[in-house]
Amino acid sequence: MKIFLSGIQPSGALHLGNYFGAMQPAIELQSQGQAVYFIADYHALTSVSDPRLLRQYTFDVAAGFLACGLDPQKTILFRQSDVPQVHELAWLLSVVTPLGLLERAHSYKDKVAQGAEMNHGLFAYPVLMAADILLYHADAVPVGKDQKQHLEIARDIAHKFNDRYGTVFKIPEPLIRETTAIVPGIDGRKMSKSYHNTIELFAEPKALEKRIMGIPTDSTPVADPKPVDGSILAQLMQTIGTPAQSESFTARMRAGGCGYGDLKKELSAVTKEFLAPFQEKYRYYQAVPAEVEAILDDGAKRARAIALPVLHKARAATGLGHGN
Ligand code: ATP
Ligand code: MG
Repeated sequence: MKIFLSGIQPSGALHLGNYFGAMQPAIELQSQGQAVYFIADYHALTSVSDPRLLRQYTFDVAAGFLACGLDPQKTILFRQSDVPQVHELAWLLSVVTPLGLLERAHSYKDKVAQGAEMNHGLFAYPVLMAADILLYHADAVPVGKDQKQHLEIARDIAHKFNDRYGTVFKIPEPLIRETTAIVPGIDGRKMSKSYHNTIELFAEPKALEKRIMGIPTDSTPVADPKPVDGSILAQLMQTIGTPAQSESFTARMRAGGCGYGDLKKELSAVTKEFLAPFQEKYRYYQAVPAEVEAILDDGAKRARAIALPVLHKARAATGLGHGN
């Protein structure tokens, strides 16, 4: 049976980029193998410093994943920090990871370029991510395109370990959907929790509308055709709407005679309609925190059952312990 693995950081509220880039594909895979999905709270520590907020976001990501259709009977859903053994594996991997591999990571270089205060956790992030994946013998990893390079690094690290110590790890394949590879945020950059440019999955309808109405547009007069290529509105409609909704939307843009205000109202109506069933289930899970915690506890147990033998094998291969 194939193992699918994916993680989401509890670094802020879930958004449309998370949904279309990672959650929707991940949820679809849960009937095709063993899905193992975790809430990456160790990773989120690199950007969230308020303990109360980290705990709240962690719960909200779990509730959100369940609300969007994750089935806890089929899928192992757990908190990354409930399997702390991942750090032992991260150490075993870090000694086979060349420094240059980490120095070339785009997300690290971007953060340095933005003048972010760098900590060792941010630099070592790809090694922990490799451990997340390799600890569960994942065959495939559904992610957004922004994670492509991190996944290549994980594959490189697995090869390096296997070359040195004999084959211990499976080499994971990325699963990236080209159509929703990078969902744009309201400022046109990649939609990211940390860029504050998101359209949140569980925002109130009023707040959703305000967010969409605030998307910057050019000064094309109402009567004129609107450029479709590179338009954030068109890209979002293509991602969220049905093919028919998206076609009629771009046809209206091309025809002219329709202002950006009306187009945004249409996008906002489609978004609200799309999210309504998820929001209803989210309210349910928010009201039963003990049920969510029980799902995470059970997930952690099942996750450990897969992880511990893999870790044991990796330890033994390196010469740690007595070798049995
Ligand atoms: P942060 O800003 O803290 O890095 P994020 O919004 O990028 O948060 P992550 O937790 O890093 O979210 O990513 C979770 C999953 O969502 C990953 O698989 C990632 O590839 C995917 N993802 C995040 N943003 C987008 C996006 N704009 N389009 C497509 N996929 C995305
Ligand atoms: Mg990210």
